[in-house]
Amino acid sequence: MTFDDFKFDASLLEGLYSMGYKTPTPIQEQAIPVITEGKDLIACAQTGTGKTAAYLLPIIDHILHAPTRHLNTLIIAPTRELTLQIDQQIDGMGYFCSVGSIAIYGGNDGITWEKQRHALEEGVDIVCATPGRLIALLQSGNINFEHLQHLVLDEADRMLDMGFLDDIKIIIGYLPKKRQTILFSATMPPKIRMLAKEIANNPEQINIAISKPAAGIVQQAYVVYDNQKEALIKGILKNEDYQSVIIFSGTKDNVKLLEKTLQSVSGAVKAFHSDLEQSEREEIMREFKGKRLRVLIGTDILSRGIDVDGISLVVNYDAPGDPEDYIHRIGRTARASKAGVAITFVNQRDQMKFSHIEALMGYEVTKMPIPENLGSGPEYNPEAQKKEMHRGGKPSSSKGGKGRSNSSKGSFRKR
Ligand code: AMP
Repeated sequence: MTFDDFKFDASLLEGLYSMGYKTPTPIQEQAIPVITEGKDLIACAQTGTGKTAAYLLPIIDHILHAPTRHLNTLIIAPTRELTLQIDQQIDGMGYFCSVGSIAIYGGNDGITWEKQRHALEEGVDIVCATPGRLIALLQSGNINFEHLQHLVLDEADRMLDMGFLDDIKIIIGYLPKKRQTILFSATMPPKIRMLAKEIANNPEQINIAISKPAAGIVQQAYVVYDNQKEALIKGILKNEDYQSVIIFSGTKDNVKLLEKTLQSVSGAVKAFHSDLEQSEREEIMREFKGKRLRVLIGTDILSRGIDVDGISLVVNYDAPGDPEDYIHRIGRTARASKAGVAITFVNQRDQMKFSHIEALMGYEVTKMPIPENLGSGPEYNPEAQKKEMHRGGKPSSSKGGKGRSNSSKGSFRKR
């Protein structure tokens, strides 16, 4: 199958091919015909599968064939980063077409607020928004979604995890009942199915191989004591093959500490967290994308939707708690069929969590020997930890205890 088979407008195809897309991914093959037919859709697909284009392409094509002067499509996404990336994909695909879009998210100044409000009042084809800012704008202004045709909820599971369910319902209260509703989610827990039942009308369902990391990712784990992590990461970063690296750590404070710790390693190292100004976050992402920054350290805020090519290594400095977070984190490398390495540090407390991740994937991750100069690590024995927990004990912690514990891009465009 090729993109020509979808009979998209020539200007859209031109944008698509100029972005380097050659053949549709499985989610695109399945979702595009359903969306083109105007049916509601519930799709289970992770980031990295090409899900964004799967809904954007048929929607943009529809807008091109039946342009309106109103707000046509609303895409709700959990984070400003994802919102901006969706908007950037619209920019790319729509480069040769006349489709207007705006990213709406908070954390910016009054001028941006005014620009966002103005764009919504004037009418723009596609609005990509985080829930909080959109509600604030809806409640403050003269915004008319009466002619809305498509509603997309992207990363719906993450939005519910972040507590946005009520906000989503409030927003939907502003939308016409007759519309196309499209919901994308990396997982399909019962709460997502309930939401889908409430907001979608007889939706088609698509399931794309859930919870399996891309085949090109070489996964490794080091079973360590906390106080071995620092020396281990410094040793790993001496490997110059790793020229673009993301390190995930559990909390914002740990991310900041790690940034200080790693200042001596070669290549620039920066932390990415929610205490930074939006403009600083955007600058850091630009440096990282432009390969002027070698190491980016962040929390799970980085794990979803961040779309940077050529990341050679992902390190989980702390093992993620949620198997889906693991898949999302390591999915930052080996994108678009390239190879990449994902290394996870597993301390004693995290052994049980990590064994759940292995169970979900259906295989064990290779355990790497710890470099001799760091001494020996703990045994990998998650079963023992499970038994200890069942007896009411706390999982044992680290030996020595010295280590860390665990746009407005002027994103406003008008036609
Ligand atoms: P997503 O799952 O939407 O986060 O997309 C993951 C990455 O794949 C993004 O960089 C897209 O630009 C890229 N992509 C999406 N569809 C295709 C395709 N058909 N061919 C090549 N790359 C694609």
